[in-house]
Amino acid sequence: MSKRKVTVAYGDGIGPEIMQATLDVLFAAGAQIETEVIEIGEKVYKKGISSGMPQEAWDSLRSTKVFLKAPITTPQGGGVKSLNVTTRKTLGLYANVRPCRSFFPYVETNHPLTDMVIIRENEEDLYAGIEHRQTDEVVQTLKLISRPGSEKIIRFAFEYAKAYGRKKVTCMTKDNIMKLADGTFHKIFDEVSKEYPEIETNHMIIDIGSAIIADSPHKLDVIVTENLYGDIISDIAAQVTGSVGLGGSANIGSEVAMFEAIHGSAPDIAGLDIANPSGLINAAVMMLVHIGQIDVAEKIQNAWLKTIEDGIHTSDIYGKDSDRKVWCSEFAKEVIVRLDKQPSKLRAVKFEAGVKDIKLKERKKAKKELVGIDVFIDWDEDGRKPNSIGDHLSKSNGDGIKLKMITNRGVKVYPEGMPETFCTDHWRCRFVPETQGATLTPLQIMDLQKRILDLGFDIIKTENLYTFDGELGYSLGQGE
Ligand code: NAD
Repeated sequence: MSKRKVTVAYGDGIGPEIMQATLDVLFAAGAQIETEVIEIGEKVYKKGISSGMPQEAWDSLRSTKVFLKAPITTPQGGGVKSLNVTTRKTLGLYANVRPCRSFFPYVETNHPLTDMVIIRENEEDLYAGIEHRQTDEVVQTLKLISRPGSEKIIRFAFEYAKAYGRKKVTCMTKDNIMKLADGTFHKIFDEVSKEYPEIETNHMIIDIGSAIIADSPHKLDVIVTENLYGDIISDIAAQVTGSVGLGGSANIGSEVAMFEAIHGSAPDIAGLDIANPSGLINAAVMMLVHIGQIDVAEKIQNAWLKTIEDGIHTSDIYGKDSDRKVWCSEFAKEVIVRLDKQPSKLRAVKFEAGVKDIKLKERKKAKKELVGIDVFIDWDEDGRKPNSIGDHLSKSNGDGIKLKMITNRGVKVYPEGMPETFCTDHWRCRFVPETQGATLTPLQIMDLQKRILDLGFDIIKTENLYTFDGELGYSLGQGE
C-alpha cells in the first residue's frame, strides 16, 4: 500500500505530548501514512496572523486533504478568529462527527451502555449568522436549510453507519413546528434511507430525542441532525458518557477532513507528561477509517480498549478500578504492546469499510410560480389594533391583488383575530391574487409596494410567495 500523506499539527499546551504518543501508536500499528508537519495556533497568532493558520498550512491541507490536529490555545482578546471555525468554513467541512461511548467501570457514568455517534450538519441552519433588527421591538435570525446541504449530511450518516458496522440511524428535527425547513431535512432522510435497507431508521422530534439521550442513551446508535440541535445534543451526549476527556471528533468535507480530540490544550498540565492522549488516539482511529486503513484502525482501537480495561490509566481517570498509573508517553507504549490483543470486558470494535465519497442524486428543478407576497410592516399606531392596520392597508388592494390576512408573531390577527392576542410592532401582511389559482408578476408586486408606501406605511421587508410544481413553498399563518 502506498503511504498516504497526512498534515499534522502538534498544537499548543499538551498538544506536542499527546501528538507524539498518538503518532508512536500509529506507526507501531503499521499505519501507512507520511506526516507533513505544520505550525498553527498560539505562535502563529502571535506573529499577527489572525486566523492562527499561515499560508503554508492551507497549502499543506489542500494537498494532503487529511488533517490530524492537536488542540491549540486560543489567545483571549480582540481580532483573533477561532481557528476551528475558520478551518471548518473555509474548507467546507460539512459534517461534524462525535462518537460518545461509555467506558464503565473505568470511567464513572450513570449510563454504562452508551455507544452512540452524533453526526451534525456543520454549515447551515441558524449558523449562517444572518440577523436583523427590524423594528424597535423585533429582531430576526434566518434559519437556512438547503436540499443539497441536508442530502450530503444524511448520505454521510448512512455511509458512516455502514463503514463502522452500525445498525441504526435516527434523524432528529423539529418538523412538527418548522414544517418547511425541518420538514425538508426529514423528507430527504426518508428518501435516502430507502437506499440503505440493511440499516434500521427512525425519526424523533428533537425535544424527546434529547430527553432519550439524557435518560436512556443506550437506545440510540447513529444520530443525524441539523447544526443547532447537533451542537446542543453532542455536548449532552458527551457528558452522559462521562468520557469527554477520551473523545475524538472529526470534521469532514467533500475534499478535506480534520480529526482532533474534543478537549482543549490544557495549559495547566502542559509539559508534565501526565496528559491523557486517548482523545487524539481515538480521533486518529477515525482518520484511519476515513482514509480506508480499516485494519490498522481496528487494531489500534481494540488495543486501546484493552489498555483501558487492563486498568492502565493516566492520572485523569486513575481510580478504584485502575491497576497502574502511567505517564502520557508510557500509556502509548502500553497500547503498543497490546496491538494484537482484543478487549474482553469492553466491547471490541469491528469496522467494515472506509467512508465512501458522497455523491448527490441528480434531480429535476421544480417549476416555480409567484403566487403572492408577504409584506412586513413596522406599525405602532392606534393602540396596535389589528382592524385599524388591516382596514387602512386594504386600501392598497387593486391590480388583481388583495390583502388576505395579517399575522403578528405568526398568529393571525386580521381579519377576525382574537382580542386576547398580544401584538408587537411587527406585522406580516399577506397579499394574494384576487382570483384563486392566478399567478402574479414581479411588476404587480412592485406596484403594490408603491401603493402601500403611498398610504404611509413603513415596509421593513418582503418575502415572495411561490409554489414549486404546484406545492406551497411557504407556511400558513396560525389560524389562516
Ligand atoms: P481544556 O479541555 O484544555 O481543559 C479543561 C480541564 O481538563 C483542565 O483541567 C485540563 O487539565 C483537563 N484536561 C484536558 N485535556 C486533558 C487530557 N488530555 N488529559 C488530562 N487532562 C486534560 O479546556 P480549557 O481549559 O477551557 O481550554 C484551554 C485552551 O484550549 C483554551 O485556549 C481554549 O481556547 C483551547 N481549546 C482548544 C480546542 C481545540 O483546539 N480544538 C478545544 C477546546 C479548547
